[in-house]
Amino acid sequence: MEMSGKVVMITGASRGIGAEAARVFAAAGAKVALLARSEEAVADLAGELGPEVALAIPCDVSRFWEVAAAVEATVKTFGRLDVLVNNAGMLEPIAHLAEADPEAWCQVIDVNLKGVFNGMRAALPVMLGQGGGTILTVGSGAAHGPVEAWSAYCSSKAGALMLTRMVDKENGAQGIRALSLSPGTVATQMQRDIKASGINPVSQLDWSDHIAPDWPAKALLWMCSPEADGFKGAEVSLRDEEIRRKVGLI
Ligand code: NAP
Repeated sequence: MEMSGKVVMITGASRGIGAEAARVFAAAGAKVALLARSEEAVADLAGELGPEVALAIPCDVSRFWEVAAAVEATVKTFGRLDVLVNNAGMLEPIAHLAEADPEAWCQVIDVNLKGVFNGMRAALPVMLGQGGGTILTVGSGAAHGPVEAWSAYCSSKAGALMLTRMVDKENGAQGIRALSLSPGTVATQMQRDIKASGINPVSQLDWSDHIAPDWPAKALLWMCSPEADGFKGAEVSLRDEEIRRKVGLI
């Protein structure tokens, strides 16, 4: 997928899947805006990719005004916005619902659900004004079923999947492509935290069971191509061998 002339904004770009997505999109020719709370990490990554290619923007996605300012800065620097990757996410608290800290529980909703809304709400007016755009959201198999001690995470991912479906329903006919990616388990900090918790079957997985972060990153790039149009308003599962083949991973 050739991305020359395209501008991509990635949330949660300081490490893991988001940082790899930045590298993959930049290698395909895109300009990338890198958002995360860790200012130094996104600045380092922007330095690695080069000042002509990358813009680092400190941003907490749970605050709408910060996301709106990031969209504004991206358009001011690169002239447009073609792709939004809603990747920022968190999992903690890992706790049974009956004992979960209410504030920490709500923070997951603020980031994983409201953060996705904030990205869509801030990007859509720009994309609609341009005549189209692509909004990708990194979802999870947790959207589809309960996983012990992950009530906030599962609920937030189920809600975020509905937001992808909503954007497709309301703006699909106006050239907005909204798709979700369920990556399977990926070797990132999030899986380290899961392993350390020792709760539920996911924490028992061997590290070698996880895919490398460049796999979902390459899948996100593929999802920008017309080949993925059949998944508009729906989820691409990277556990699916057919998808892995289409993305060129196997
Ligand atoms: P990660 O290494 O923990 O990265 C999470 C990223 O989200 C970091 O860049 C973090 O940056 C950012 N983030 C968290 N809170 C944020 C906030 N309030 N505002 C802005 N950025 C924020 O985990 P990952 O595995 O790469 O996760 C990326 C996405 O994949 C998440 O949505 C996750 O749910 C999803 N996912 C992961 C797996 C897996 O097995 N790893 C499986 C399914 C889905 P800062 O801390 O610098 O803000």
